[in-house]
Amino acid sequence: MLIFFSQEKTNLADQYSDLFEICHFSDFSGWEKNKIAPSVFIIAGDRQYISSVLGKIRRDDDVFASLCFAIDPVAPFDNLLLDGQLPQPSVLLEAVSQVEDLQKSLKSSETYITHQGRLIKYLWLRPDFILQPHHEWQYPRFYRYPLLEALSQNGSDSFEWLRNLANNKIIEALTMLDRQRECTYCRSAHLSFIDVCPNCLSIDIKLQASLHCFACGCVDVQDRFMDGGTLVCPKCHTHLRHIGSDYDRPIENYRCQSCSQTFIEGDVQVRCAMCEKEMKPGDLILNEVHSWRLSDKGRTIAFRGEVFDLSSGFDQLDFVSRELFIHDLDWMMVTSQRYPNVHFSLFGIYFANLPDLVELFSHARLLQMLESFAQRLRSLLRTPDLSTRTAESMLWLLLPNTDEQGLTGFHRRIENSMKVLLEESEHKLDFRFISISSQNITGKENAELLLARLSGELL
Ligand SMILES: [Zn+2]
Ligand SMILES: [Zn+2]
Ligand SMILES: [Zn+2]
Repeated sequence: MLIFFSQEKTNLADQYSDLFEICHFSDFSGWEKNKIAPSVFIIAGDRQYISSVLGKIRRDDDVFASLCFAIDPVAPFDNLLLDGQLPQPSVLLEAVSQVEDLQKSLKSSETYITHQGRLIKYLWLRPDFILQPHHEWQYPRFYRYPLLEALSQNGSDSFEWLRNLANNKIIEALTMLDRQRECTYCRSAHLSFIDVCPNCLSIDIKLQASLHCFACGCVDVQDRFMDGGTLVCPKCHTHLRHIGSDYDRPIENYRCQSCSQTFIEGDVQVRCAMCEKEMKPGDLILNEVHSWRLSDKGRTIAFRGEVFDLSSGFDQLDFVSRELFIHDLDWMMVTSQRYPNVHFSLFGIYFANLPDLVELFSHARLLQMLESFAQRLRSLLRTPDLSTRTAESMLWLLLPNTDEQGLTGFHRRIENSMKVLLEESEHKLDFRFISISSQNITGKENAELLLARLSGELL
């Protein structure tokens, strides 16, 4: 169904009637009464009309991700919400069927109630889509993302939202378009920079030509040396003939009219035009403006539903950061090389198919299984043992004071604990172990290389 919006009756859509059923409305509220499901929206009219209808479509709970084309030119801001100018019927048909195919592979869940889910759906249906900012000098931050503003119904800050999405690796930056400094207080980019006296902060400073008499060291404005066309020092009355040998120009070329201080360069004060606060240039916040696209992880969410997050299942293992783990492992490796009676072991657990298990069991059930496994694993660990996660499904345990024999014992115990998990998962879980004790580690590797080598053997 082609939904055609136009202010006036036109026959513009007629050439599409062979391929599409057409429904005509003069305003959005007319369509809203029955919400006829669209395969595509076409809008014809002046800029204001198109802008109004388009904005309502992108903010609608049901049809926000639909294809939208315009017949007439639109404002640059609205262009970023549009799929372009209306193409020929055959091209349009192809575009519609591509979106319908993609729509079928989209995991239909309640995810799309959230604004993040909406964005993922919008981008998923447009594989080559690049999320672009719109530059607007009147806008406090100069840049805005029309699509994000339309999809986020709570009017949240677009840059904040982008940062969250990027942190969660749902989108990835494509091109850096600008790097701008913003007000510390209100994040506006409307700033003015002004030189002030470094002594009293007065703005009343002047660039002035000065001279420096070598005979007595006097520094003063050039005018005071002028004496009937020649240069005479106002203090010691020496005739100054040769620059370089009698006098020169001092580098302190600025003079404060308020406190008479002379100086080479003023201090720079920044004033925000929006909130009128003052700050130093070093206090400004740097904001990078990028174009973005959906990442692999974002696409995975689109066709698989929410990404399974292991971290909550293993919460009770008290993971340390990867950096700390590497640091401690390095230290243990050095120590055990130096003192042969110091032993430790390293143990890795890799879960190869957790995402597939999400398909088999419900989220909640899988989470429960992993939680009880984490509990059993925790009871096997002693206080000085460290654990960390280097990838979503890769756990590492560092066991101090554990030699080869101790490691064999640990292996047996963890094997028992794993048996329970395996039964709970109906033997569908694919897990792999790897371990090494300090006696078998050479001095040639460091912690980083050792972990990389062992992980490689697991994959
Ligand atoms: Zn001053
Ligand atoms: Zn002098
Ligand atoms: Zn401000």
